[in-house]
Amino acid sequence: MPARGRAAAGPGEEKRQSPVKSCPICGKPASEANKPFCSPRCRDVDLNRWLSGSYAIPGRPLGDEDDE
Ligand SMILES: [Zn+2]
Repeated sequence: MPARGRAAAGPGEEKRQSPVKSCPICGKPASEANKPFCSPRCRDVDLNRWLSGSYAIPGRPLGDEDDE
């Protein structure tokens, strides 16, 4: 009983997807040196999100407190 279903992907049947992943931060194509991000900056942004424990907006800029 030949179980060669249709699920078998034939040669040259690759997914139509760009080999380059998009940067999860800004959506630009990731760079080899910084993948999956496009740049050290985006990598840093993602890291900060992790460190802050949530995907909240990073602290506001100092010296901009409206205290009264
Ligand atoms: Zn980016």
